[in-house]
Amino acid sequence: MAEAYDRPLPVPQPESDFYWEKAKAHELWLRHCNGCGRTYFYPRDICPHCFSRETEWAQASGRGTLHAFGIVHRGPTPAFRDHVPYIVALVDLEEGARMPTTLVGVEPDPAHVRIGMALEVTFDDVTEAITLPRFRPAT
Ligand SMILES: [Zn+2]
Repeated sequence: MAEAYDRPLPVPQPESDFYWEKAKAHELWLRHCNGCGRTYFYPRDICPHCFSRETEWAQASGRGTLHAFGIVHRGPTPAFRDHVPYIVALVDLEEGARMPTTLVGVEPDPAHVRIGMALEVTFDDVTEAITLPRFRPAT
């Protein structure tokens, strides 16, 4: 933690407590559905694809590709204003889930960010309790 984290934090819910505990341990876990075989994000007990309750946790590789991105130049709230520009992104994980996140380790410039680029998860310990999974170009 280089600086005090001043942006809004996620509030773990019963269905996502495990996800946040694993993020704190620098592991990325997703929900997998045994009904339809798909893996999805965000974590919830009922599969968003087939509504099955036959779901379980599965550890993700942390690898994926960039599906879409935007470069934020005007922070949506005062807390974000000091942090622009930054990159918001949708990452298609190897397991099939699509995850909203932010990109780090790459210039927030369209010349440096490419749809389909290979990414890997990295963990940002923003507070004692919360670690945010972010993505960076794969090495
Ligand atoms: Zn399903």
